[in-house]
Amino acid sequence: MATHTTRMLIIGSGPAGLSAAIYGARAGMEPIVVQGLQPGGQLTITTDVENYPGFREVIQGPWLMQEMQAQAEHVGTRMMWDTIVDIDISGGSPFKAIGDSGDEYVGDVLVIATGAQAKWLGVEGEHALSGKGVSACATCDGFFYRGKKVAVIGGGNTAVEEALYLTNHSDDVTLIHRRDELRSEKILQDRLFANSKISTLWNKAVTRFVAGENGTLHHLELTDTVTGETSTLEVDGAFVAIGHAPATELFKGKLPMDESGYLLVEPGTPKTSVPGVFACGDVMDHTYRQAITAAGTGCMAALDAERFLAHRDFEKAKTRA
Ligand SMILES: Cc1cc2nc3c(=O)[nH]c(=O)nc-3n(C[C@H](O)[C@H](O)[C@H](O)COP(=O)(O)OP(=O)(O)OC[C@H]3O[C@@H](n4cnc5c(N)ncnc54)[C@H](O)[C@@H]3O)c2cc1C
Repeated sequence: MATHTTRMLIIGSGPAGLSAAIYGARAGMEPIVVQGLQPGGQLTITTDVENYPGFREVIQGPWLMQEMQAQAEHVGTRMMWDTIVDIDISGGSPFKAIGDSGDEYVGDVLVIATGAQAKWLGVEGEHALSGKGVSACATCDGFFYRGKKVAVIGGGNTAVEEALYLTNHSDDVTLIHRRDELRSEKILQDRLFANSKISTLWNKAVTRFVAGENGTLHHLELTDTVTGETSTLEVDGAFVAIGHAPATELFKGKLPMDESGYLLVEPGTPKTSVPGVFACGDVMDHTYRQAITAAGTGCMAALDAERFLAHRDFEKAKTRA
């Protein structure tokens, strides 16, 4: 079992963690990134990415993340194949984290970039057709369904927001909900019901995503949650919008979080309540959840981390003098 020591310990290797690493390395903090079970993060499970600035043509999510990692390594980041299973931040800096491998990681600052995972229905065809008609992100993929027929599955704020967003691209949006009323805020419901491009299907559960001959989504199989009757709905795209789960199990009882488990930060900054511990990307952002915003807050975390260490080192030097 080895101990790895660094000025800047980063947990997570998605756009937030790798952006923090690029800035941290260039500021001389010699970061260590612990990659976790999904090296490269959520973008590694998608195909086309068309909204990350800098690329005129559509790029592939896994390729973008390989490039980000290569850039982080090029400027001096150490990547570790490990998953953090425990952390100790109670004594302040330096912070300790234990990997699944048994190795210990010690960082003068800690950047948490563990992301979030979309919740899925877990029904047949959903996984196989992900990226081929099935998506969990209208902002990311809605553009690919211009002029097409789409469905949104869910009944909370996320589902209503996704349905409203999709009307920018489609005149035929169906919101499918397994109950007969929505859980979303009243104001969102008012906007939804006033939008002629959106129709609603109540008391329907999606039980299967079915592909057509070309291998992309062709229709949904539905079961009425009251009568048990089955039916089908032909759609080109289906957006599962039943929420996200931030990866914050590790931090329970150690850092403040909201009722959904997102880490709380000082507004407008990546600073958590513990000096020297920063959170960036989807793990602290339930609103935007995009690669560019994750990268942006990763950059902010690195800049604040550098300032934290500079201030601390200056104070230490003053005490010694
Ligand atoms: C299918 C899909 C398509 C998308 N398409 C787009 C798009 O086109 N454009 C766009 O801008 N956004 C898109 N997004 C959203 C985008 O991927 C996320 O907003 C972004 O990846 C968030 O980055 P992040 O770094 O905060 O977290 P993530 O990408 O979620 O990365 C989290 C990282 O933390 C690591 N981790 C978690 N727990 C631990 C642990 N205990 N120890 C060590 N490491 C850990 C994981 O292994 C992972 O590397 C899409 C998302 C999905 C799911």
